[in-house]
Amino acid sequence: MKELEDRIRSDGAVKAGDVLKVDAFLNHQCDVALFDAMGAEWARLFAGERITKILTIEASGIGIACVAARHFGSVPVVFAKKAPSINLDGEQYVTTIYSYTKQREFPVIVGKRFLGPEDHVLIIDDFLANGKALEGLVDLCHLAGAEVVGMGIAIEKAFQGGGDRLRAQGYRVESLARVGSMDAATGSIEFL
Ligand code: 5GP
Repeated sequence: MKELEDRIRSDGAVKAGDVLKVDAFLNHQCDVALFDAMGAEWARLFAGERITKILTIEASGIGIACVAARHFGSVPVVFAKKAPSINLDGEQYVTTIYSYTKQREFPVIVGKRFLGPEDHVLIIDDFLANGKALEGLVDLCHLAGAEVVGMGIAIEKAFQGGGDRLRAQGYRVESLARVGSMDAATGSIEFL
């Protein structure tokens, strides 16, 4: 998606450790008009698919998923929570995810009331790197008996391999910007 690639080039920053910083428009300050264009693009890509729920993970996925949901009719957004909370009553599906940015494992939780065998799920997230976050969300869908229709990703760092692994497992992964390489020393970013 050219608009997103242009924005990454103009306002993104490549940091050491293969980190792409996009907090000016995606995961700290939010450009809602850009989120809206991303949602329209996922709706175009997944047109004709039966989607009953959008699943994402707190925190950065929530804004993107909620704006995108406006393009999918009356589809609710469910976000997986990263820590047990007193607000999480009833039974829950729980799995663990290894965080690339935080370099540790953490639990992710969805209340059983909000995901079930009747659901056809589109997973939406801001980044796809090694694929651990998405694998965790897929796990939650499997625990619930829900079908994963596909994944809509804003930025895939393709050189980290998570997207290829998920595609090899048969999942439809639609990333709006696919970074083939990036260099912290020069700040260069190549898109696929
Ligand atoms: P994965 O589990 O695919 O390795 O990483 C996905 C999660 O890690 C994303 O949801 C995002 O929060 C975070 N992440 C991975 N790489 C980057 C990056 O380069 N920049 C930012 N801002 N977040 C990243």
